[in-house]
Amino acid sequence: MKTSFQVARVMGIPIKLHITFLLVLPLFAFIFASNPAPYGFGDTTPIMEKYFLSLVTTILLFTCILLHELGHSYLAKKYGFKIESITLLLFGGVASMEEMPRDSSMEAKMAVAGPTVSFTIAAICLGIIALFPSFSTTAPMRIIWIIGYINIILAVFNLLPAFPMDGGRVLRAWYAKKMSYVEATQHAAYVGKLFAFIMGMFGLLYNVWLLMIAFFVYIGASEEERSTKISFALEKVPVRNIMTREIVSVPPSWTIEEITLFMFEKKHMGYPVIEGNDLKGIITFTDVHKVPPEERSKILVSDLMTPDVISINADADSSDALKLMTTNKIGRVLVIDKGSVVGILSRTDLMRTLMFLGEQ
Ligand SMILES: [Zn+2]
Repeated sequence: MKTSFQVARVMGIPIKLHITFLLVLPLFAFIFASNPAPYGFGDTTPIMEKYFLSLVTTILLFTCILLHELGHSYLAKKYGFKIESITLLLFGGVASMEEMPRDSSMEAKMAVAGPTVSFTIAAICLGIIALFPSFSTTAPMRIIWIIGYINIILAVFNLLPAFPMDGGRVLRAWYAKKMSYVEATQHAAYVGKLFAFIMGMFGLLYNVWLLMIAFFVYIGASEEERSTKISFALEKVPVRNIMTREIVSVPPSWTIEEITLFMFEKKHMGYPVIEGNDLKGIITFTDVHKVPPEERSKILVSDLMTPDVISINADADSSDALKLMTTNKIGRVLVIDKGSVVGILSRTDLMRTLMFLGEQ
């Protein structure tokens, strides 16, 4: 299922909205409409104006979150990293990058760029209010005040020394000057979890929202630790060493009925479709499973296969293969050496390797 959709393109980066965002928009508008001044428009009448101002504030708020993410992305692009997309979701925004920098000062600068944008917006907003004190009770000024206030919170919150916040990355960069990247991640993740724990305790006593955020921080810290360990372990292993060499291919002219029986016999989950010596596509158990049994004799492999095959060079690192599978949301890649298919690498192969290396 598609969980996000593209709404714009900025600096060549696709800007996406996550489906949870559709919930967030009315929710935040409602919060602004119920909060008393100066934090909202609870006292504004008529009711139409109240909701209109609340909606405008919500849209501006998320524009600020987008600008924060663009702050990170601008520096990342300047350093030569590719930004896949920026997704706005329930808890703010996420810029997804193909790879993270391993240079600690680069990572720290990129992490600080977002909060710097937020602080700048806050400074501009509060500056405008200071310049025009006599307009302070007008609706536009009240919006500007809220946006300024929220941007300060956004910047401070993001600088908390915990993954997945920007402050967690700054902390890792600081540790990475003294130790290896993996150890630095472990240290930063530990601080993040500790922070989440303390925050959770406070949340339990005083505020449910804080408890939720603590939970989100804890998961983020554990996830960052795990994925860093995995990608480091796989970096030392060439794809060639762990791929499945015995390639079982199928011809494009087979029916789905034929390939279903073949799959039961061979027990692999994905097969390259080869005609003569040409690679035509790839077909997986998931594709076949979608076809109702009564139609399986009428549909051919060539109708159902994915023609754009994603492949990797046999000498590439296994961590690159994992990145390729994750960004393309696929379970396997074909392995190519000197122009021909020499093997297939699946997530199962990667997990088995991690088990042998003792990382899982
Ligand atoms: Zn940020």
